Amino acid sequence: MRRTLVTAVALALAGTGSALAMQARVDAPVSAPEVKNATTQLPRTVRPAHYDIAVTPHADSLTFNGHVAIALDVLEPTTSITLNAADMVFSSTTLRGSRGKPLAPEVSTDADAQTATFTFEKPLAPGRYTLATDYTGKIGTQANGLFAIDYDTKQGRKRALYTQFENSDARKFVPSWDEPNHKATFSLTATVPTNQLAVSNMPASETRDLGNGSKRITFAKSPRMSTYLLFFALGDFERATAKLGDTEVGVVTQSGLIDQATFALDSSAGVLREYNDYFGTPYPLPKLDNVASPGSSQFFGAMENWGAIFTFEHTLLLDPTISTQSDKQRIYSVAAHEIAHQWFGDLVTMSWWDDLWLNEGFATWMAGRTTAKLHPEWNTKLNTVEGRESAMSRDAVASTHPVVQHVETVEQASQAFDAITYQKGGAVIRMLEGFVGENAWREGVRKYMKVHAYGNTVSDDLWREVEAAAGKPILDIAHDFTLQPGVPLIRVDSATCANGKTSVKLTQGEFTKDRPDKQPLRWRVPVIAQAGGEPVRAVVEGSTTLDLPGCGPVVVNAGQTGYYRSLYAQPQFVAIRDGFAKLAPIDQLGLMGDAWALGLAGLRPATDYLELASATPIDADPKVWGDIAQTLEGLDEYYRSDATRQAEFRAFAIRTLSPVFERVGWETKSGEADPIAILRTQLIGTLGALGDAAVVQESRRRYDASATDANTMPAALRKTLLGVVAAHADSATWDRLHAAAKAETTPLVKDQYYLLLSSAEDPALAQRALELALTEEPGETNSARMISAAAHRHPELAFDFATAHREQVDSKVDTTSLSRYYPGLASNSLDAATIAKLRAFAEQHIAASSRRATDTAVANIEYRMKVRAERLPVIDAWLRQHGR
Ligand SMILES: [Zn+2]
Repeated sequence: MRRTLVTAVALALAGTGSALAMQARVDAPVSAPEVKNATTQLPRTVRPAHYDIAVTPHADSLTFNGHVAIALDVLEPTTSITLNAADMVFSSTTLRGSRGKPLAPEVSTDADAQTATFTFEKPLAPGRYTLATDYTGKIGTQANGLFAIDYDTKQGRKRALYTQFENSDARKFVPSWDEPNHKATFSLTATVPTNQLAVSNMPASETRDLGNGSKRITFAKSPRMSTYLLFFALGDFERATAKLGDTEVGVVTQSGLIDQATFALDSSAGVLREYNDYFGTPYPLPKLDNVASPGSSQFFGAMENWGAIFTFEHTLLLDPTISTQSDKQRIYSVAAHEIAHQWFGDLVTMSWWDDLWLNEGFATWMAGRTTAKLHPEWNTKLNTVEGRESAMSRDAVASTHPVVQHVETVEQASQAFDAITYQKGGAVIRMLEGFVGENAWREGVRKYMKVHAYGNTVSDDLWREVEAAAGKPILDIAHDFTLQPGVPLIRVDSATCANGKTSVKLTQGEFTKDRPDKQPLRWRVPVIAQAGGEPVRAVVEGSTTLDLPGCGPVVVNAGQTGYYRSLYAQPQFVAIRDGFAKLAPIDQLGLMGDAWALGLAGLRPATDYLELASATPIDADPKVWGDIAQTLEGLDEYYRSDATRQAEFRAFAIRTLSPVFERVGWETKSGEADPIAILRTQLIGTLGALGDAAVVQESRRRYDASATDANTMPAALRKTLLGVVAAHADSATWDRLHAAAKAETTPLVKDQYYLLLSSAEDPALAQRALELALTEEPGETNSARMISAAAHRHPELAFDFATAHREQVDSKVDTTSLSRYYPGLASNSLDAATIAKLRAFAEQHIAASSRRATDTAVANIEYRMKVRAERLPVIDAWLRQHGR
């Protein structure tokens, strides 16, 4: 591997030589199997084969000119061709067949359906045609379609352009069959300013100086792929590269920041090497870039465009003044996720959005597995519990959905990007991999890649290959967990020990948060149970008795690979609590997750979690203490506006966490493990949020002193300390942070300041932040984030404000996120009035078919109110008894 720094000019020169070699490799296999009768919103009479696209962006006026020539096959006689197009105006449209004069169709557009229809006087005979048209389109200011990001630099304000097409916005850039199953090849040409760098999926094959300050770049032809993976970016960029075999791995940043992408570049090369081996099919494109953009989106942080991943700076750059160990790990795992998509998603694509989880669940699982494997010192294998918890929390309310779900509309497809698709999808894969074994799983995946390369699939295509490789049936289990919604519950009814063996009776039910009387669904649940000896594997269906070697505490999800909750009878819970210190950290985390969820739902005493936290030794794994800090901070929120009871709870929480923080300390110790650095920031953050006087005071002292001594706020602590200071800010402190935000010229740091302004506990300051969010000052992509940040502590205030300024707010949110943005603001509320307001808002402004996020937010608020009314009294009583 060799890393080189390439500037815009050098890159333009370097692009030409090897283009032919590039093309040969990616053009070969185009006869991949199709999924017949895939869902489509377009007529089945025509299929695209190749797009020749030429664009000239006008960044200043936020418009662009386009020309496209689409080679297409008419499959049945038809008098019209309908494809997707949005916000476009067409001119000079022709259709050429292999013979005869070109035809000039009549063009009509349908804004609601996002289509354009080309109508002909006589039916077209089946065969190959070329549809060519000029068009003009718009450049947006939020991250979808072709969009502009304005950002500050030391040299002044600059504008860069990028594209974001998933799920359905390629139609804003090129008239196209904008559905995943309509794969085609793409050739893109762009006319751009000479001094800027343009990036697309493929390397430039030709660059011609047009002599008028502009140049025309032709990118090599792409392999056969879905429209949502097409990419284009243009700006004052720098690029650095490394070589891995035949692949050029690159990172692209705004000029001057390329060194901050070194970690991402090195990581990408390492991950790519691992995947080339894992998937058995080597990465097929000549290059793989990761393009950093300032700003942010409500919808996504990074996107897996084939050969040209897009990532916001906050998840790609390591800024030496503010970046932390968790930033580093996030950058790594997001890159690992997007690179996994180069196979799962790009090479093999789900046929329709129903199977989106094949992309997202798989990439989530693959990134987790790979990060843990290549960076064992981070101990991220413990993070799988957190991911599973977020899925189970979402999956236990009535508005959940199966992993595989039917999607009808573009908006429903956007809503499908949720915790079920990502985290449950990933957790189910992990469970099934555990069930068949990692070698059989990998063999199945390799075969699946080979058979379906450049094609489209449904979930059963994957199960078929894994089942064949494993020689063991998994289809029924896979269907139980992907075709029906919800969380299985395994009840441990009894456990008796005799002759060194524990006999344990297990019964399968269902865990729900909002339907206590629900008739449980049936799952075949792969269980790995342990009682201090060797683990025992079984598939639990209905009720089962297992004999486990050993007489220790029974853990029925040993290793925590199962997607289910475990409910222990009191004697088994006591055994777990008393033996807690000796359990594996991953089981400690899993058991705490179950205790917390079952306690809040009323299936176990709500104090189980506090008992486990109290039984956790001070030298437990840092992740276990991180989980305790996070959970106690979450519990604290239920006491909002109840100062007396909150003070009592906080005293307990601070007393529990302080000794751990004393061990960890304020300063990084030489040679300390990476997870300790993360725990340090978590403890400072939580103790700060709990109002721990010593931590708040020391954070303020360091902030004040940093004006003259930068060492008081080292990068590793800077965001955390500023977070504590901003949360407890008075008006003068807020003004000072505001002044720093205005003066800052590095987008990453500047954006951070604007978020901090929204995190004040003082409602008057939160109100000021909300008003500031709607001004021009924070920049187009910060506004929606600022309102969301304020909603965390002040959900009612933020929701009322946003709905009162709906039109202004709508223009600051990605269209792909609109149907869940407002419900998201409300969901941290504890107030019944918010439910009524949210329902009324949705009734008026959110399509009936897109209200799942609304239903989920309502379920959240109802559940939070119930927890506050019914569980807090039990916790208060426990605190009075044990808390001192
Ligand atoms: Zn993804």
